[in-house]
Amino acid sequence: MTALPAFRFDNSYARELEGFYVSWQPDRAPAPRMLFLNEALAGELGLDAAALSGPQGAALFAGNALPEGAQPIAQAYAGHQFGGFSPQLGDGRALLIGELIDPQGRRRDLAFKGSGRTPFSRGGDGKAAVGPMLREVLIGEAMHALGIPTTRALAVVATGEQVLRETALPGAVLTRVAASHLRVGTFQFFAARGEQERVRQLAEYAIARHDSALAGEPGRFLALLDAVSRRQASLLAQWMNVGFIHGVMNTDNMTISGETIDYGPCAFLEAYDPDAVFSSIDQGGRYAFGRQPQIARWNLARLAECLLPLIADEPERAAALATEVLGRFADLHRACLLQGQRARLGLRSAAVADDAQAAADDAKAAALADDAGDAALADDWLALLHREGVDFTLAWRFLADAAEGRDGALRALFTDPQAPQAWLARWRARCGREDAQAGGATDASMRARAGAMRRASPRIIPRHHQVEAALDAASDHGDLAPFTQLLAALRRPFDDDPSLDRFAQPAPRELTACYRTF
Ligand code: AMP
Ligand code: MG
Ligand code: MG
Repeated sequence: MTALPAFRFDNSYARELEGFYVSWQPDRAPAPRMLFLNEALAGELGLDAAALSGPQGAALFAGNALPEGAQPIAQAYAGHQFGGFSPQLGDGRALLIGELIDPQGRRRDLAFKGSGRTPFSRGGDGKAAVGPMLREVLIGEAMHALGIPTTRALAVVATGEQVLRETALPGAVLTRVAASHLRVGTFQFFAARGEQERVRQLAEYAIARHDSALAGEPGRFLALLDAVSRRQASLLAQWMNVGFIHGVMNTDNMTISGETIDYGPCAFLEAYDPDAVFSSIDQGGRYAFGRQPQIARWNLARLAECLLPLIADEPERAAALATEVLGRFADLHRACLLQGQRARLGLRSAAVADDAQAAADDAKAAALADDAGDAALADDWLALLHREGVDFTLAWRFLADAAEGRDGALRALFTDPQAPQAWLARWRARCGREDAQAGGATDASMRARAGAMRRASPRIIPRHHQVEAALDAASDHGDLAPFTQLLAALRRPFDDDPSLDRFAQPAPRELTACYRTF
């Protein structure tokens, strides 16, 4: 047998933050079997995927034989769940196994999910089922391929055990890789208990880990709030521009790192609808698609409350400073959103120039860019898609064809093919003004615009019916082929390869109308 690779662990959380966690061991899995190993990610982490793919790897990722240097802990955290505060949540079915230092020197958490009960489990069994863990793989890898900051799945192992949900389901353990597992809820846990010194310790730790340039600076706690706020403003813009609905934006599911975390009842929009909710537990629509940015802002206010005593001695001054930071969130988010929308509209002002001529063109384009006008153009496009119930992903994608003069596929998405006429005329005029600046439109410039748009607007996202079919086959019949094929497609979201055509099809309307995620 090949030897398992050495894991380069350096467990700073366990070492520096005693009292913030409980040391704990994963349960033994009776019959581990590897269902998924993320070879690309293993490579990034400096781990030999080939050596991990055998039975020893399965035992390792099941928690039966931890790698040398692992130091499993269950982290404490609290959180606002659907607006109500729970002072004690914590890792009820997860364990931080250790922090890996990758070949570039980056620190990444390695954590199990579904590895058994911990002191934070409350009524839960500490376990996870195959379907939801493979779902986390599919959506997380899709997000990664779309270029969106996210935690990622390294492995999923079937445990050989049944877990009891509404029915008995095959059990699994997921191994997750994250920049860290620090959450808004981690701060809330200690703040709610009045443990101010620990809040400070945690904030210093977060700064060292995610904003090391701020270490030792006098205004660093306010700057930390600002940095987290900026990362979330950008993250939320990226979610909104691909139609991602998280589904459970509780404060325990919002990271300090700015990575998307906890793929539970999440889903992608099919037809554009700001009110879309798919999560079965979100009955009030608190986490509806269009509400996500304001929920992120609300969550940041909860973080700010924890940090107030660190921001300034004088409470009123601390509150004023924090309010100023939070007050910038909406504009920051809107700017990030517009940047992404401009790219999708084929406007050069969104492009990052990589040569002198392009830089000069961009400067001209930026001078021309009218933020309010472009935002209105994007808003009106979305309003049109909403009114007509048009598929969000394909509408943006087919707009690239329209940039080359072929608008048949786009029009065919509308019940009335004339519906987009007026908006398209406005958009063409806007593109035309930009072309005029660069000396007029040519075949080459049209091709370049369409190409840039196709690099900004994906063709393939996780479609409801594809995801459910892949998970049902894996969970009910042990057939991983549909999962593997779908995953391969989701890793090429911008690719026009005709062999991927079926993954680009919208879900049947009947399914989306009653689609529920858990
Ligand atoms: P989530 O909704 O996944 O963010 O989880 C919220 C809280 O519930 C966290 O403290 C989890 O650790 C805990 N939890 C979720 N599922 C289980 C389970 N099956 N057993 C124990 N704790 C769980
Ligand atoms: Mg969670
Ligand atoms: Mg969850």
